[in-house]
Amino acid sequence: MTVKTRFAPSPTGYLHVGGARTALYCWLYARKHQGTFVLRIEDTDRERSTDQSVQAILDGMSWLGLEHNEGPYYQTQRFDRYEEVKEQLLTNGKAYRCYCSKERLDELRERQMTNKENIGYDGHCRHLSDDEQDVTQPHVIRFKNPVDGVVVFEDLIKGEISVNNSELDDLIIARTDGTPTYNFTVVVDDLEMGVSHVIRGDDHVNNTPRQINMIEAMGGNVPLYAHVPMILGDDGKRLSKRHGAVSVMQYRDEGYLPQALLNYLVRLGWSHGDQEVFSREEMIDLFDLKDVNRAPSAFNTDKLNWLNQHYMKTLPAAEVARHLQWHLDEQSIETVNGPEVTLLIPEMAERVKTLKELASAIRYFYYDYKAFDEKAAKKHLRPVARQPLELAKQKLATQADWSADALHKLVSQTAEELELGMGKVGMPLRVAVTGAGMSPDLGITLEWIGKEAVLRRIDKALDYITARETNN
Ligand code: GLU
Repeated sequence: MTVKTRFAPSPTGYLHVGGARTALYCWLYARKHQGTFVLRIEDTDRERSTDQSVQAILDGMSWLGLEHNEGPYYQTQRFDRYEEVKEQLLTNGKAYRCYCSKERLDELRERQMTNKENIGYDGHCRHLSDDEQDVTQPHVIRFKNPVDGVVVFEDLIKGEISVNNSELDDLIIARTDGTPTYNFTVVVDDLEMGVSHVIRGDDHVNNTPRQINMIEAMGGNVPLYAHVPMILGDDGKRLSKRHGAVSVMQYRDEGYLPQALLNYLVRLGWSHGDQEVFSREEMIDLFDLKDVNRAPSAFNTDKLNWLNQHYMKTLPAAEVARHLQWHLDEQSIETVNGPEVTLLIPEMAERVKTLKELASAIRYFYYDYKAFDEKAAKKHLRPVARQPLELAKQKLATQADWSADALHKLVSQTAEELELGMGKVGMPLRVAVTGAGMSPDLGITLEWIGKEAVLRRIDKALDYITARETNN
């Protein structure tokens, strides 16, 4: 079978991580089977489907690198086709016009509730003859669902699912204003686009029997279905904005690498032994729908942070730098007049969790810090630090060889001359030149910051100490 999967989001303003995971599974499955991955934008809800919210989906998909092979198709561009299929169904007696008023439907519903019957349309207009109809009157179009028998399908994740047709009422496929409804457009599209595997969230599992009936009424081949369980927040409730970031681009903004988010999402609901880290190639190679969990999975930010740091440390620095650049721009950090960012990444990745933190953590290589980190300054820029800082400054001022090794030696000599431990010189100097207590090896830090800035910043630290002495 030629595999064709599709991701069919309805634009809501952003790409939800749950949607992204579904998209990833669709993409992986198509890739694995040398198939086709279709992107279809279900934008029939005109109010929500603004250009902006469509763009948000395209941006999210492209940031994650989930390229589609076909599409994007837009349902709003396919209304003529839905209209044709609707007419065909009417002509073939598979659909009918329903003129029931809202009052009648409300009353029906109330009666069904009182009698504890199945709620749903009772087929009142199903058998109206042409003479009994006035098509100029307001009406909807309903699909003639089979009344008897059972719909059975083998869900590739959930196993066999069966529903009696007696539980399914006649679904509206076109509203009074003629616009087609979700279940109808999905069926027309899945059929005409030749989708072989419908992989989607399990909030659609109840729609599937109805969709299968419609596909059969249209004489089409029923695709295979795989319904992916939902993602929960840490409180066991469905993941929502209350739990923090749910939009893919918000993860970008917070400093996650797409590689980390993808790796995180693939494992959220799917496993391969106890392996945690998967390259794209490995995911494609190992992914299988039968290994997707049947139970919902809970979001775990610590694990995502761990993966993010893992990828910051292990991906080629140039690749990390490409993503870091966005955060540097965001924080107005220009790096042309300082060390190559790719040199800093392996030194700094160990010390931060996100690219956003990384960008602010390397700021001092390019700009003087605005103020000292209070805690670090309190601890390390005490009056006793004056002498080591002054001596170090004196040596640094005349130092010709500005390499990390030579600078490292210079610091140890300073400590030796003053008969102090390395930390008593190193830490004040680190705080003096970086403004904070965290940096790579001091030699490297001094080399990268450069002589002029180092001397200027030591003066600033000495001023701080003076102020402290005067205040005491
Ligand atoms: N557009 C639907 C949604 O965003 C998905 C339809 C489907 O996958 O069948 O929930």
